Amino acid sequence: MLYNSTRNKNLKLPASLAILKGLSDDGGLFVPEEIPVFDKSLDELKDLNYRELAYEIMKLYFDDFTEDELKGCIASAYDDKFDTDEIAPLTYAGKVYYLELFHGKTIAFKDMALSILPHLMTVSAKKNDIKEEIVILTATSGDTGKAALAGFADVPGTRIMVFYPKDGVSPVQKLQMVTQTGDNTRVVAVNGNFDDCQTAVKAIFNDSGFASEIKEKGFCFSSANSINIGRLIPQIVYYVYAYCRLLRDGRINANDRINICVPTGNFGNILAAYYAKRMGLPVNRLICASNENKVLFDFLKSGIYDRNRPFILTCSPSMDILISSNLERLIYHLAGDDDEKCAGFMKELASGGRYEIDETMKEGLSDFLEGFATEEQTLSEIRRLYDDTGYVIDTHTAVASFVYNSLKDTLTGEETVVASTASPFKFAKSVMTALSEDASKKDDMTLIDELSSISNVEVPAAIKEIKNAPIRHKIEAEKDGIKKAVTDFLS
Ligand SMILES: *Cc1c(COP(=O)(O)O)cnc(C)c1O
Repeated sequence: MLYNSTRNKNLKLPASLAILKGLSDDGGLFVPEEIPVFDKSLDELKDLNYRELAYEIMKLYFDDFTEDELKGCIASAYDDKFDTDEIAPLTYAGKVYYLELFHGKTIAFKDMALSILPHLMTVSAKKNDIKEEIVILTATSGDTGKAALAGFADVPGTRIMVFYPKDGVSPVQKLQMVTQTGDNTRVVAVNGNFDDCQTAVKAIFNDSGFASEIKEKGFCFSSANSINIGRLIPQIVYYVYAYCRLLRDGRINANDRINICVPTGNFGNILAAYYAKRMGLPVNRLICASNENKVLFDFLKSGIYDRNRPFILTCSPSMDILISSNLERLIYHLAGDDDEKCAGFMKELASGGRYEIDETMKEGLSDFLEGFATEEQTLSEIRRLYDDTGYVIDTHTAVASFVYNSLKDTLTGEETVVASTASPFKFAKSVMTALSEDASKKDDMTLIDELSSISNVEVPAAIKEIKNAPIRHKIEAEKDGIKKAVTDFLS
């Protein structure tokens, strides 16, 4: 299995090199030459545990890893860092299954991929005889940053640097990042929004002069952002796992088609579900749920992607995104794996902030269904579900839950799985605003304790840890100062 760039099909790299590079030199994203199909039936897969299933999926994509190497990566990733051996448990509430992707170290779904990426990278470096220290640069809208820091902290042969929008993350997210330990970590607050951070980091990756400069100092850049194929592929696993659990538990019958509803920002999580469907998972609709930054909703409705609009700060900050990077992979596949066509659209996006796909490509969008939730709808959904069932979801999950409920009468398909992407404790202020009268007057830690008592769920270790931890990262930068911050870190 080789990987092409979405902007250059002549480029063909094995998985290990695609993982190390993160982004292709032409600005494109790595995609498998062909999306593989399952080589075992779901009936055979349904009794496997999470690690065993992860191997069955990932071996189809990362075929230049030996069995021992890949199983080693999986064992190091999905261990007791997760607070349940199930890794990604399903909870049934309000007639829908919530796939809880927040049982890892930082209590959000990015742990699912970022627990394994450092191991995939260090094995990839060894395989390719790479001597330079790997420097991870990451722009974050909140959750990626901490999950990447936690994944890479003190991993030998790596350094990690994270940029976050100074006023665009929740207080808990911020505290989680600035208290990060590990001598190889650095966290920088940027005066700008997430897109500013991401654009600056992308520019550094595309700056070949800078790359050779740091190579002389013994470093090479890589990306832990959701554009890395080493993050996308591990995310396929939990959708297959959810299906297998439903099958094993007799909630669905063989070949029943499920719907999957995903709170979407950068389009990584839902793209993994799309790959799962292409691999043969019986999926009816992939429901793309947006918050008020509904650029993807408009795109899926009209075939026009247009980022020229105000950027809105919402209570689901990890979805506050106007340029959904991973959508490029879908565009490439919709165009029939046409690199030139894809590159053309991305050029239009870079220059005018807008492109429109053609009629044939629009037909390919029928796998998807789209919806969005306003701020008010998001909070009222948290309240509704709690009143009906006692189950508390976070703001991101609530966006998806609301969208599913607003569309459910139009849906066929047997059951629906909603991706639950963060623990409500991570966004306690917004969640408690939805559930009680006077939350705005209280501090986060008080609200976390109140949330614990009304939901009957213990405060997660990830939160307990940061309560008294010292602040270790105080650096700030302007958006045009990001490159200099990198130079400082490497000198
Ligand atoms: C990152 C994130 C999302 C969005 O996922 P994408 O893969 O970027 O679409 C949704 N919810 C939470 C909590 C996240 O951290």
